[in-house]
Amino acid sequence: METFYQPTNNGEASNRETEDIYAKMDWDKLGFDVIPTDYMYIMKSNEQDGTFSNGALVPFGTIDINPHSAVLNYGQGLFEGMKAYRTTDGEVQIFRPEENALRMRMGAERLLMPSPSVEQYVEAVKQVVRANKRWVPPHGKGALYLRPLLFGSGSVMGISPAPQCTFLIYTNPISNIYKGRTESLSLLIDNKLPRAYPGGTGGVKNIGNYAPVFQVVKEAKAKGFSDVLFLDAVEHKYIEEVSSCNAFIVKGKVISTSPTLGTILPGITRKTIIELASDLGYQVKERKISVKELLRANEVFCTGTAVGISDVGSVTYKNKCIKFKTGPDTVTQKLYDLITGIHAGLLEDKKGWIVKID
Ligand SMILES: *Cc1c(COP(=O)(O)O)cnc(C)c1O
Repeated sequence: METFYQPTNNGEASNRETEDIYAKMDWDKLGFDVIPTDYMYIMKSNEQDGTFSNGALVPFGTIDINPHSAVLNYGQGLFEGMKAYRTTDGEVQIFRPEENALRMRMGAERLLMPSPSVEQYVEAVKQVVRANKRWVPPHGKGALYLRPLLFGSGSVMGISPAPQCTFLIYTNPISNIYKGRTESLSLLIDNKLPRAYPGGTGGVKNIGNYAPVFQVVKEAKAKGFSDVLFLDAVEHKYIEEVSSCNAFIVKGKVISTSPTLGTILPGITRKTIIELASDLGYQVKERKISVKELLRANEVFCTGTAVGISDVGSVTYKNKCIKFKTGPDTVTQKLYDLITGIHAGLLEDKKGWIVKID
């Protein structure tokens, strides 16, 4: 058995850090930088039956990993993205953690890894947030980003799944403003390289989904675009999603988003927006959206945990730049206010989506 860390205690954080309400740092300067926090959570699977046990908080730090591990050699790994939010009255809460747990379990099935139960996952998230509470930024300054990982840490020589997997959660405070951006997104449609292929792993949060698009996203950014909007891999005709977030279009009272049929990541923000928009009386459709139709939309927006809801100001396709409505008087703004209001504890959580961290 490989061990990264010996737990320093029985899974309980010491009181030293938790006594301070906020970590000493300039919250106004918060961006998207690497900031080590106090603790991370680690739990390993049993090689015999694949069950997870003895999870514990350990001081945040580097991990030892065997060169033979399946994650390094064969990319057997998944990630999740969540946030802990500070409410206006200083409380800390997380949003729909069971959904992330279930999504990780789906991904684990696809990559042939054992995974923690939903209860274990949620308990681990609560523990790691509680232990790093002082790193949850004050309301309005950002959120504590949570990054759960599940990876094949066990050693293999032949091409096969790892005999042992590691579940790890680390945290990092980040700003609300995505990568310093204060304007709406300008997207470039790339019709050369798709993000995901039918039968591939685009529908799960596989660690290998991002590196293949680094190059095209970098090229788009060099041309001044904020990100790339990818088309389907078969007909190069339907919009799928942006590199790290889902896309929606608004036309009159109808809000549409591409269906999650394997090439689109089933975002939890996406799912939440579908529900909130339906409650507001919009007709929400999950269906294929052609580029032609997108270019005729009134509004376009993106959703994801990191970006929240971002309005899209323009989409460029075949050297033509089409502009969309943005600003205060939009459907996008209405949905933004709703979801950020729930996250901040300003609006009542009628759905049982919020889990408070005491
Ligand atoms: C994580 C992710 C999203 C957004 O999912 P959320 O659950 O809303 O954060 C969208 N697209 C891709 C490719 C992603 O990796």
